[in-house]
Amino acid sequence: MRMSSLFAPTLREDPAEAETISHKLMLRAGMIRKVAAGIYNFLPLGYRVIKKIEQIIREEMDAKGGQELFMPALQPAELWKKSGRWDVYGPELMRLKDRNGREFCLGPTHEEIITTLVAENVKSYRELPLLLYQIQTKFRDEIRPRFGVMRAREFLMKDLYSFDRDEEGMNKSYEAMYDAYCRVFKRCGLVFKIVEADPGAIGGTGSHEFMVLAKTGEEEIIYCDDCNYAANTNQASSIVTDIDFSLGEEEKPLEKVHTPNAKSIEEVAAFLGVDKRRTIKTLFYEAIYSKDEWEIVAALIRGDYEVNETKLKNYLGCLHLNLAKEEEIAKVAPGKVGFVGPVNLRGVRIISDPTVQKIKNAVVGAGEEDYHFINANPGRDFNLGEVVDIRLAKAGDRCVRCGAELKVTRGIEVGHIFKLGHKYSKAMEAKFVDSDGKEKYYYMGCYGIGVGRTMAAAIEQNHDEDGIVWPMSIAPYHVIVIPVEYSNGEQMRVATEIYDELKKRGVEVVLDDRDERPGVKFKDADLIGFPLRVTVGEALKDGKVELRWRKTKETKLYPIERIVDVVVSEIEKELKP
Ligand code: ATP
Ligand code: MG
Repeated sequence: MRMSSLFAPTLREDPAEAETISHKLMLRAGMIRKVAAGIYNFLPLGYRVIKKIEQIIREEMDAKGGQELFMPALQPAELWKKSGRWDVYGPELMRLKDRNGREFCLGPTHEEIITTLVAENVKSYRELPLLLYQIQTKFRDEIRPRFGVMRAREFLMKDLYSFDRDEEGMNKSYEAMYDAYCRVFKRCGLVFKIVEADPGAIGGTGSHEFMVLAKTGEEEIIYCDDCNYAANTNQASSIVTDIDFSLGEEEKPLEKVHTPNAKSIEEVAAFLGVDKRRTIKTLFYEAIYSKDEWEIVAALIRGDYEVNETKLKNYLGCLHLNLAKEEEIAKVAPGKVGFVGPVNLRGVRIISDPTVQKIKNAVVGAGEEDYHFINANPGRDFNLGEVVDIRLAKAGDRCVRCGAELKVTRGIEVGHIFKLGHKYSKAMEAKFVDSDGKEKYYYMGCYGIGVGRTMAAAIEQNHDEDGIVWPMSIAPYHVIVIPVEYSNGEQMRVATEIYDELKKRGVEVVLDDRDERPGVKFKDADLIGFPLRVTVGEALKDGKVELRWRKTKETKLYPIERIVDVVVSEIEKELKP
């Protein structure tokens, strides 16, 4: 490819709309352009990266016996009603009607379609296991589309679905995909962590997320360096080291004290001169189970921790969990909203974190403005209700597996794998005949990779102040050849010869044949992030050209006749699995 005809409109300045490095650099390097919020064009350079990531994914899916197919984005509502997700999925689902008023959606995922397809066409255990995948456009009306293609409303996903005879088979398929995912992300040059995740709306019995570590990641991860434990914060378990710090104390009498202007836990603890760990927070939630079934729940947690709403929601088994409104709280907890503590609760379901169970002589709200109780004791002054881990783990807690101290980092979720079990096969009536002649539901799994998000994550991890530093495996081109002086006929001739020879050898190469100042050409080359640059300039008088490594910025001179071999071997070295 000649740079003069390449459609890669680069930008000198950081676009104002972009918050993250990857978004900025993809715009500046002319790889993407925005059409509307969360909707993007991929330009030729960007699309080459996408195709490379897709190819790596294909190879790894195929290696595990995956078969590629292609399903429609446009999906009839009936299938979603059958699975029950038409009502559950919420506003993220893009819904539309055809000319006859029939309802459809643009698929955010494809469990409904594929389960129907397999149910109608696979009848016997002999045809299992079946691993089917596609790389296809998904639509999700994200509440906050942002970070460019990282959280888009239209995006490319690889989604694979496994169909097995029994649980053991499903576990095998899951392990195969787990392994394939490790290989995919390693080949894309990414540093990642695998975390235990919350199965969320898709549901099921086991799930892992593949997280690319990056400061800008939307997800918080808790991990242990000693063993390999890692989990999303919203899912993590942890051991609280000082859970019994007050356990040996005598119970003192409950007493109401004046705490003027002290509202937050920090203010109350500071005013009373007590440790935050001696305070208890009471939060009220509205748990919605169905259209007409809901309840108010009080959650009690020690003052230095936060309630993990995912854990609470999973424990309650509700569809939605929101903070309760004032008027609802007033019905179950007499007193001034915002000052209500567990002592005031009447006839409301209470869920307490174990940290609350162990506190002696705690500080809690007294239900009156500017008043608190001191020396409140569980069992004596208030009910604990159901004691369940509803705590948001935090750095400094101990690992549940090995006891070492946990740390916190941030990550970008690039892949997600789920064991679905019978969730969809039951809902969609998807059965096969087993060897004993009985009809059984498939054991399913589903496995997604965000292709655009993987590209963005790769940039978050591989860039410097000058631009992108592509790993060789997913670089849009391997090498750029730059003649320094456009008007120097000899430089141009040699550069073109090297370019032609590299092309012949199967190297993906760009020749910068533009009539531009050398500085402009070098800047663009660094911005776009070609892993290798061959510069044809001054040294030509000694029969030499320069090779420069984008990553290290190291340069070396090579005789003209050797440069092609060197470049080819450098590329091969890096592409070796
Ligand atoms: P998130 O928690 O980030 O919204 P998710 O759990 O909804 O992700 P899945 O349904 O598991 O995502 O989708 C599989 C993969 O698709 C994700 O791991 C991610 O790489 C990608 N993905 C999901 N939503 C988006 C999006 N809005 N834009 C780009 N990629 C996405
Ligand atoms: Mg999502």
